[in-house]
Amino acid sequence: MHGTPDLRATALTSLPETTGAGGGGRILLAAPRGYCAGVDRAVDVVEKALELYGAPVYVRKEIVHNKFVVESLSKRGAVFVQETDQVPEGARVVFSAHGVSPEVHEAARVRRLATIDATCPLVTKVHREAVRFAKQDYDIILVGHQGHEEVEGTFGEAPEHIQVVGTPEEVDRVVVRDPDRVVWISQTTLSVDETRLTVDRLRQRFPNLIDPPSDDICYATQNRQGAVKAIAPKVDVMVVVGSANSSNSVRLVDVALESGVPSAHRIDKAEELRGEWFAGATTVGLTSGASVPEILVRDVIEWLQAHGFPTVEVVRTETESTTFALPRDLRADLKAAGMAPARPHAPREVLPDHTR
Ligand code: SF4
Repeated sequence: MHGTPDLRATALTSLPETTGAGGGGRILLAAPRGYCAGVDRAVDVVEKALELYGAPVYVRKEIVHNKFVVESLSKRGAVFVQETDQVPEGARVVFSAHGVSPEVHEAARVRRLATIDATCPLVTKVHREAVRFAKQDYDIILVGHQGHEEVEGTFGEAPEHIQVVGTPEEVDRVVVRDPDRVVWISQTTLSVDETRLTVDRLRQRFPNLIDPPSDDICYATQNRQGAVKAIAPKVDVMVVVGSANSSNSVRLVDVALESGVPSAHRIDKAEELRGEWFAGATTVGLTSGASVPEILVRDVIEWLQAHGFPTVEVVRTETESTTFALPRDLRADLKAAGMAPARPHAPREVLPDHTR
C-alpha cells in the first residue's frame, strides 16, 4: 500500500488548517504530533548507513518504537537484533535512539563492532547528569518505567547510585544513605503530570531533594501532551497513532483520559480502527507519538473521512524547530564518500500516493 515510504517527518503545512467539505463530524488534529528531532535523526542514521555502507546494517533493538518504521527499514536491509552478541564480529551496528549503557559499548568493543550511536542527544543529556551526580556521590532517583530500554541505558551509567521509581506509590520503598543528598532525574517520555506527582511525593520524603538542571522530559513529549490537553475538552473520542511499546504514545492515551476525553484508543495503523468506537461521536481528536511517520496519520484521516468525519481542523499549540546533526563519524564517512549529509534537513511533504 505504501511502497517504499519516506520515513522522515512531514511538514504540517502540507495539510491546510481546515479541510473537508463541512457537515457531519469533524477531526481535531493535534499539532505538534509525530516525529521528533531524535527519531528523525535515528531513522536518518539507519537510512544513510544503508546507502553508504550497504546492507546488512545491524541495529540493536528497535531503532525507534514503531512497528511500521522497523518493518520498512528491515525491507531495505536493516537487521534488528536484541543484543550485540547476535552481530557478527567486526560488523557494523547502530545503537537505537533510546540509548545504551556503558556495558553495551564495552560488549561491542570486545566484538570489534563498528558502532554508530543514534542515541537521541536529549537522552545523552540525562546519561551525563547521572554520571555527574554519581561522581558527586548522590543517591539518584530515576523516575521512569522499569524495563524500558532508555531506563536500562541510563541506569547502567551508575547502577550503584540509581534507584528506579515508576509511580508515586513506589516512592515509599526508596531507601537512601543521606536524605540531604538525593537528586532526581527522569526518563524523557513520561507523563508530565504523573511525574510531578512522583516528585512531589519524593520531596515530601526528602525536603532537600535536588532537581535536575533542566527538564528531562523532552520538548517533544511535553509539546505532544500539551496539544492533546488543548483539544481534549472538545472531543468525544481520541485516537493516538503509535506502537504499544512506545512510551510517549501510551502516555498520550493516559493524558487524553486524564483530561476528560470519554474514550481514547491507541492504534498502530488505520486498519485497527473500529466503527463502534465512534458511535454517537461528533468530534474525534487525532494525534501520534514521536516515533510515528505522518503517512500513518494520513491513513487514519482517510478512514475517518470515509466514516462520517469529513472536516479536519489542525489545532496548533507549539511550533517546533529542533533538529539534531547526524553522529560525527557517520557525517565524516558521508563527506569522504562525497555524499553530503542532509542535516539539518527540511521536512518533506506527504504526496497523495503516500510513498514519501
Ligand atoms: S521523544 Fe524526546 S528524547 Fe525521545 S527521541 Fe524524541 S526528542 Fe529525543
